[in-house]
Amino acid sequence: MSVFDHKEFANHEHVAFYHDEKSGLKAIIAVHNTNLGPSLGGCRMWPYATSTEALNDVLRLSKGMTYKAAMAELKLGGGKSVIIGDPRKEKTPEMMAAMGRFVESLGGKYITAEDSGIAVSDLKIMAQHSTSIAGTEAKYHYNDEEADGNPAPSTAYGVFVGLKTSVEYKLERDLRGVKVAIQGLGHVGYRLARHLHNEGAELFVTDIYPESLEKAKEEFGATVVSPDEIFALDVDVFAPCAMGASINDVTLPQIKAKVIAGAANNQLAEEHLGQQLTEKGILYAPDYVINAGGVIDIYHQRMLSTSAAMRAHIERIGDNLKEIFTRAEETGNSTNFIANRIAEERFLTN
Ligand code: NAD
Repeated sequence: MSVFDHKEFANHEHVAFYHDEKSGLKAIIAVHNTNLGPSLGGCRMWPYATSTEALNDVLRLSKGMTYKAAMAELKLGGGKSVIIGDPRKEKTPEMMAAMGRFVESLGGKYITAEDSGIAVSDLKIMAQHSTSIAGTEAKYHYNDEEADGNPAPSTAYGVFVGLKTSVEYKLERDLRGVKVAIQGLGHVGYRLARHLHNEGAELFVTDIYPESLEKAKEEFGATVVSPDEIFALDVDVFAPCAMGASINDVTLPQIKAKVIAGAANNQLAEEHLGQQLTEKGILYAPDYVINAGGVIDIYHQRMLSTSAAMRAHIERIGDNLKEIFTRAEETGNSTNFIANRIAEERFLTN
């Protein structure tokens, strides 16, 4: 298959394939756009069935990073890398070292960080072979928790700020007594629950594993529901914090919440569902805008800036959302459509 004719090609600047025979590394780096600065995006290790599947994923994800970075006002472009293989069975330190050399071979055009299947310990090995490795030293934390290099606390804080802004915009109230349904109490969802609880929100939570649910019941007085029940609850806000495509043709008609604001990537199974949400009077905070706290954290780690500067930057997620909501309301367009236009205005005109 030709890369240039690929349906996800979308004017990528640079796509590189790498094979290291000794370690068995097979990887692809995609650099979508560097108008605003070097491209940044995590490295994902996944047992892709075919190299075509890996290429589809890396191209789609790197383009998404260009939009996310532009929207978050970072001097960064979008890129992503994928390693073909099962991280539980095939990952070795030699392979991570080879990945570090691959990243370095792009001469600073691509900076990598964590994604599924890659841990901070893997990044630290890559960093011995490249200066373009980020996200190994998150030093920022919230609610007195220890930081461990993971950007999830910053992602959760950004989602919290964005959710609060969305509630103020749509419901004209603060978070006291607001009912929020959280789907997925993982690294981000659980921390989001804590922020919301501290501001007086009433929580309804679900997960496919029971441990965090029991904890949330005790710590926040949250009401636990089954994964299927979370969509149709009579709540003010639905916060998807699990996997992608949670808003689809089956779930959308069930949603009673007036606001959707959560951390998950690719929340809409298809882009056109954004228009259906608008027509139903549901305010949707576009996923890559509200979940940018992690990438903002990584950017500030790299810039060696201060915790206060990073926090202030994350809080601008609220301003970005307000601009999107206002323009969407003025034009009758969906919020996800407007977010894409604003991001393009930022990276295409530079
Ligand atoms: P995580 O794996 O720690 O948490 C996800 C949680 O969702 C898990 O507890 C899992 O059991 C639960 N879950 C999975 N399927 C579910 C279902 N059908 N119903 C209910 N619960 C379900 O992941 P995370 O780091 O918390 O990230 C959550 C989402 O946010 C993901 O979509 C991720 O891509 C996105 N995101 C995360 C970050 C970050 O900094 N971690 C940044 C940007 C976006």
